[in-house]
Amino acid sequence: MKSVISELSVLVTDDSLTQRQYAKGLCSELGVKDLHDAANGVDALNVLESRGVDVVLVDLEMPIMDGVELIRSMAQKKLASSVIILSAKDPILIASVGTMAEADGLHVLGTFQKPLLPDALECSLLRFIQDTKNKAAEPHVQQDNEVTAVELGEALANNELTLAFQPKLTVQGLMLKGVEALARWRHPQKGVISPGVFIPLAERHGMIDMLTRHLLQAAFQHKRTWQNYGLRFNLAFNLSPLSLADSDMVEWLCKMAEDHGIAPSEITFEITENALLGELASAIQTLARLRLKGFHIAIDDYGTGFANAQQLSRVPATELKIDRSLVHRAAARPQQRTILASTVDLAKNLNLTTVAEGVETDEDYRIIADLGVDLVQGYYFSKPLFPEDLLVWIKSGLSQLRRQHEKH
Ligand code: C2E
Ligand code: CA
Ligand code: CA
Repeated sequence: MKSVISELSVLVTDDSLTQRQYAKGLCSELGVKDLHDAANGVDALNVLESRGVDVVLVDLEMPIMDGVELIRSMAQKKLASSVIILSAKDPILIASVGTMAEADGLHVLGTFQKPLLPDALECSLLRFIQDTKNKAAEPHVQQDNEVTAVELGEALANNELTLAFQPKLTVQGLMLKGVEALARWRHPQKGVISPGVFIPLAERHGMIDMLTRHLLQAAFQHKRTWQNYGLRFNLAFNLSPLSLADSDMVEWLCKMAEDHGIAPSEITFEITENALLGELASAIQTLARLRLKGFHIAIDDYGTGFANAQQLSRVPATELKIDRSLVHRAAARPQQRTILASTVDLAKNLNLTTVAEGVETDEDYRIIADLGVDLVQGYYFSKPLFPEDLLVWIKSGLSQLRRQHEKH
């Protein structure tokens, strides 16, 4: 592994010369050659403006520009993306700065109380390498965010919108419980564009219902094909909060399921936590009707929004999907782990099936298993797959995964 770490460039920021030398010494021992340092935030920004680095170590207490300001500026100016946060202060403060940095779009490799230990640094740098690899492996490479509503309309007409499917597995035994359909736009010039770009565009331009109907039809057709092969697993589909306000949606969904010969009990609609905050009454009405028809309802991205336990208990949901920001790396973050554990408890008390999203490592998986979560989803098991790859994965990848875990 040393050889991979040696390729990285690292910037150490700390006002104390001794601490800087210590951290640089640790990096050198791990094989890092491209090493830089700065004694405060302003100097660090200067270094970053003149040359990009892979990983920035940030000490929170520095004169002139402290670590928190530095993190904000790096994120705003898009000067760096991966950080390791260090401080002599208490772990809760460090963890909360970590959460802030993530909300700003930075990739937090680790948050540590000083002194920085060699193992912690090595794990963080390896994480950077692993995560970069995962990113490269994802089938959607976003080449250009500049797409317009007109192009999206054409894409719909030209059938450029398709679906990838990510497996949802049981924590115990790694059985395939279902798949989540994730929209992909195969743009002829710009490559595969992620839904994070075009779903909000569709929502802003009044095209979301059209898009939803198009994708749902495609998803149901795939489910029908799998059923014909004798494969029966649940299909999860994301619904925009705007669709909950579309009063014809429920009837249309029922008709689609019937036309495709699909049992509503094998379909789950995923709704983000925040969709439940706005026009709660009409959203709850739609969800209640879907439940009555036999569909399942999942609350998505739980932990990123502001729904409280009472609001949660009013939603006729069957499943709670715990967001990646609570799941991933909980092992290294005691505070995050506490929130995760209490979220699992809450879901269990409300009789909801629990799903951990964004499980990326064995460490993540172990914590989730210890907490008694029901289902898992994440790159650690499988990235989202196009239908032909999904079938291959079900035939060979899945049993391989199980064998690997039996050995543990
Ligand atoms: P989501 O519903 O939370 O979907 C999970 C997202 O996490 C997917 O991103 C998936 O590729 C990604 N993911 C899965 N495992 C991992 C992991 O281990 N690590 C990391 N870092 N990421 C992981 P994707 O496909 O880019 O979708 C982004 C969002 O776009 C979805 O978030 C969902 O809110 C929305 N979306 C996707 N398809 C549709 C759709 O058909 N309709 C609507 N309304 N929204 C959609
Ligand atoms: Ca989802
Ligand atoms: Ca989610």
